[in-house]
Amino acid sequence: MRYGIMSDIHSNLAALESVLIAMETERVDKIICLGDIVGYGPNPNECVERIKEIDGLILAGNHDLAAIGWEDIEWFNSHAKEAIIWTEGQLAAKNKEYLSHLPEVISQKDFILVHGSLYHFTDEYIMTGATAKKSFELMKHRGLLLIGHTHYPATFFRKQGQLTGTSPIQNLRLTDKDVLRLSNDIQSIISVGSVGQPRDGDSRASFGIFDLETRTVTIKKIPYDIKKTQGQMAAAGLPKYLISRLAMGQ
Ligand code: ZN
Repeated sequence: MRYGIMSDIHSNLAALESVLIAMETERVDKIICLGDIVGYGPNPNECVERIKEIDGLILAGNHDLAAIGWEDIEWFNSHAKEAIIWTEGQLAAKNKEYLSHLPEVISQKDFILVHGSLYHFTDEYIMTGATAKKSFELMKHRGLLLIGHTHYPATFFRKQGQLTGTSPIQNLRLTDKDVLRLSNDIQSIISVGSVGQPRDGDSRASFGIFDLETRTVTIKKIPYDIKKTQGQMAAAGLPKYLISRLAMGQ
């Protein structure tokens, strides 16, 4: 079984289409989408409709909940807030309905899936050893937690079976073609980065391949038509900062 992992599409249809084509080439059996289908970008309805067609494990992110009025946007920065208000106005009722039914966490034999963290499913960022530790504790003896939300490909890992607080947590940033080997005595939290708004300094769309047989997670980066998305954002009147950051991958 080969899973294609994606997260944080953020209404960027050009990036999503490129990733879906790449996943087909990679002969992916099932797709995992770790949330934030909408927010920031110009194609909220198109992205939700494309995701709806997929037979996969699809989760809600904080922007998806904000766009249907379920999350307080007081804590969003001004650009994110402006884009969410625009998105809420654009989304068709049937697409809001779809977002409202997405789960915030999925737990299966081989992995746990969540947008943010196990401490706060949609909102907490796992960017530090301290935040990783809280989720490791909630994983108990489970080996793998796949997350989104950070827009940054990285992994936190530690040896299993040691007393909480004594097993050092290690952290690695990841980039294109990096391969992580999973093993029974290692507990891992992995983010494969963002499809539609990467923030790791590499503007290409980011995704991952999780191969159950070889027990590996591979990071993939692919170019997409950034100018097309930027043009659509400008036409929609979305904030200039959100338009320019796509080209910087920041
Ligand atoms: Zn996001």
